[in-house]
Amino acid sequence: MTVKGRVLFDSERCKACGICIAFCPNEVLALDESHINGQGYTPAYAQKPEACIGCKICAMMCPDMAIIVERA
Ligand code: SF4
Ligand code: SF4
Repeated sequence: MTVKGRVLFDSERCKACGICIAFCPNEVLALDESHINGQGYTPAYAQKPEACIGCKICAMMCPDMAIIVERA
C-alpha cells in the first residue's frame, strides 16, 4: 500500500521562497496567490493534497520551519 502523508503549514512563518515546491517529488505544493500572510507573502499550501506520499522532504527543506508532515 502506498504511504500517504498530510502536509500542514504554519502559514504565518512562510516567506514564499518556493523551496518546498521545488523539492516536492509529486508537485503537491504551490503558492496560494489568493492569500497574503502577516509578513506580506503568499504562503505555500497543498494544491494536490491527495498526491502527498509523506516523504517529509518539504519539511526538511523549509528554512523557516513552516511545515509539518503527518503520516496518514
Ligand atoms: S511530504 Fe513529500 S510528497 Fe508530501 S508535500 Fe512534502 S515533499 Fe511533497
Ligand atoms: S520552503 Fe517554507 S518558507 Fe519557503 S515557500 Fe515553502 S513553506 Fe514557505
